[in-house]
Amino acid sequence: MPTIQTVLGPRDIATLGRTLIHEHVLIGYPGWFMDTRMPPFVRHEALARVVDAFQQLHAYGVKTVVDPCPMDLGRDVGFVAEVAQRTGLNLITATGVYMESQGIPFTLRPLETDAIADIFQKEIEDGIGLSGIRPGLIKIATGDGVVSDYERKMLTAASRAAKRTGLVLLSHTENCSCGHDQIDIVTGEGIAASRLLVGHSCGRDDHPYQASLARRGAYVGFDRFGIEIFNSDASRTKNVKQMIDAGLRDHLLLSHDKVNCWLGSIPGVGDPAQVDHVVPNWKMTHLFENIFPALRDMGVSDADLDHIVTDNPRRYFAQM
Ligand SMILES: [Zn+2]
Repeated sequence: MPTIQTVLGPRDIATLGRTLIHEHVLIGYPGWFMDTRMPPFVRHEALARVVDAFQQLHAYGVKTVVDPCPMDLGRDVGFVAEVAQRTGLNLITATGVYMESQGIPFTLRPLETDAIADIFQKEIEDGIGLSGIRPGLIKIATGDGVVSDYERKMLTAASRAAKRTGLVLLSHTENCSCGHDQIDIVTGEGIAASRLLVGHSCGRDDHPYQASLARRGAYVGFDRFGIEIFNSDASRTKNVKQMIDAGLRDHLLLSHDKVNCWLGSIPGVGDPAQVDHVVPNWKMTHLFENIFPALRDMGVSDADLDHIVTDNPRRYFAQM
């Protein structure tokens, strides 16, 4: 089997083991450091907290975590590499940019599509900055209901970089919208839909939408377990069961989109210290502690669950 780039170098995809497909070591919105009301970022304290959270995954057999932080959300791959070193987990990072309303820096906006593809390709081949750390996948993102012109350009550039380098694509969507637009753009650049994970497809109780993405060949992200302000976990588990019953088990990828360290303030919430009160179950062990038991009660087998968190990520990455 081919290898994938982790922050500590290439790993055989066959050895990735149980994988959480979408979690964050650290996130900061563009300009996060400008909110001077927030507590300062104290690196060694933040590192200790994040390492503790990731260490807890060992108890559930997790070996690999994907951190698809785009370039424009405070990405800090040196910090991610320190977490990997201290925990022994495989951590995989991304190149690419976020959606227009909360990202896409001005630096990229005036550039032509192929110039942006060149930027992504350079990170993939030469590493991020001077770190030597190479991304393992490409992040794409679209906003709510409509793909903006800038987003379309970034998705096209990301698809071209994927075509040149062989990497897979992982997306952000809003409110279960634009997943089919993402597939259209990616396949329009000659990339198989199976090389795209349409992320955050669990944002609404919408089995027909989720199934329709899978039937076009894409992977479907149920990757926000624990964020019940967007949708309930009861709805997500019901929809996972419906996907399995519809014969679409092989398209499921599960995660929490947990942000383990917030830089600055969180839009709509403010101080990151408030997050635990707003979404008490939002932690990276929630899937194993609460969601898997719920799915078992609904008749999903241990073999199915292990297949979804082990075999599906391996098959997705093996297309590289
Ligand atoms: Zn995310």
